[in-house]
Amino acid sequence: MSLNELFTLTARQLCLCILPFAQGMKITDLNRDGGIGSNSLLVELGGYTFVVDAGLHPKLTGNAAVPNFDFIGDREIDFVIVTHCHLDHIGSLPVLLKQHPKARVFMSLPSQMLVERMLHNSCNVMKRQKEEKRIPEYPLFTHDDIDGISGRFEPLKYKDPLRLELHGEMLTITLYQAGHVAGAGGFQIEHGSKTYFFTGDVLFDDQRVLNGARFPKAKKFDAMVIETTRGETERPEGKTRESEVKRLLKQVGQTIREGGSVLIPVFALGRMQELLSLLNDARKDGRLPRCPVYGAGLGLDIADYFDQITKRTQLINYTRRVTKELRLKRPPRKLTPGKEPGEPGVFVLSSGMLVERTPSYMVASTLLASTKNAICFVGYCDPDTPGGKLLETRPGQTYLFDVLDYQCPVLAKVDRFELSGHADRDEILNFALAAEPKSIVLTHGDPGAREWFAQQLEAADHPVRVIDPEPLETIEIL
Ligand SMILES: [Zn+2]
Ligand SMILES: [Zn+2]
Repeated sequence: MSLNELFTLTARQLCLCILPFAQGMKITDLNRDGGIGSNSLLVELGGYTFVVDAGLHPKLTGNAAVPNFDFIGDREIDFVIVTHCHLDHIGSLPVLLKQHPKARVFMSLPSQMLVERMLHNSCNVMKRQKEEKRIPEYPLFTHDDIDGISGRFEPLKYKDPLRLELHGEMLTITLYQAGHVAGAGGFQIEHGSKTYFFTGDVLFDDQRVLNGARFPKAKKFDAMVIETTRGETERPEGKTRESEVKRLLKQVGQTIREGGSVLIPVFALGRMQELLSLLNDARKDGRLPRCPVYGAGLGLDIADYFDQITKRTQLINYTRRVTKELRLKRPPRKLTPGKEPGEPGVFVLSSGMLVERTPSYMVASTLLASTKNAICFVGYCDPDTPGGKLLETRPGQTYLFDVLDYQCPVLAKVDRFELSGHADRDEILNFALAAEPKSIVLTHGDPGAREWFAQQLEAADHPVRVIDPEPLETIEIL
């Protein structure tokens, strides 16, 4: 290009022309506490500034549960990408969007169909907690705030690139199915000559309701941002999702046949519908005896949304027929600790970690003191939650339901089944290594889990810079 030609270029063309020499990506983890908390990443790439997820910390309350959005300062956010609708990824979205009224918001179509329902529920929970736990700043947003932002959610189709042209630069976003939960997406960003990939929360295994991740294969990325949830969990030899489903259904069937009840604590979004489908299949083919199946709360509402998502997108496989065929009942309203809740059956209730005062916590207090019953955990339990503590308590030892002021010996069978919504660590590691990135950023994992990934990646044949960002530390990835 001659000097003359260069002078005739418009500013925009000039930007596009020099872009390959532009700086790399800067990432700041806005989650104040590290670990798996209030997920939110600030990304600066050329002239673009965007945020990935805006979660709420599941174990904290009040402003401490919100990512540090103050760090964004007066930067203008171009867009926010929502990877999926678990609250640790969307719980502070209305707060962020209020501060950035011009930011566009991208997510998959199933996520767009679920996000408002999840946020409205969160608002109701905060209103309750405002009284119970005396948190003056709750609710962090109102139902009106949610209605006010809902028009800004723009659905992205999986594998259908969205091209943006802002600040005189091109940037392409492509969303890929991430398994994990209905609507979950990992995404690729192309900018100049560079390609980046963010896994989000990912599950590669197919589930009953939802296919596993369909990430791009045999593709090279310059840098990747990966989740590390299960970095400390080694799947025992021979244990597969299939064999764990079998073991769970056997335990449920046996307990029911012996006249006991089973509690399966579940997350309302995803796990509940998956478990109801599995139970329904097992009942239809005779692996499970006929007995009442109880369900309640947000999870049932979400089941109705799943019905609509199935019909509209065919991206999941759950219809109202499942709840109808199971003749799902609501658990009795009045529950007394230590007293069995009426007719024995299977209770599929949230929360998955037995968080205080939730239906699963209340029902656990009625079942735990009898050898006839069983409590079957099917997902991740944080060690600090009541569920995590119950899993640590040995049979016969005393367990305290502290908000109920009730304690009893652990006589029911308490077991854990590996039906996690997160991929095995080796699967994520292999996916990352196959893409031969120059840099990998670790997110969404406890310190030990990140450490395992760091060690494995550093020992790999392909040299890779491993970055485990401190909260609010800006990392530059070239
Ligand atoms: Zn999730
Ligand atoms: Zn998550």
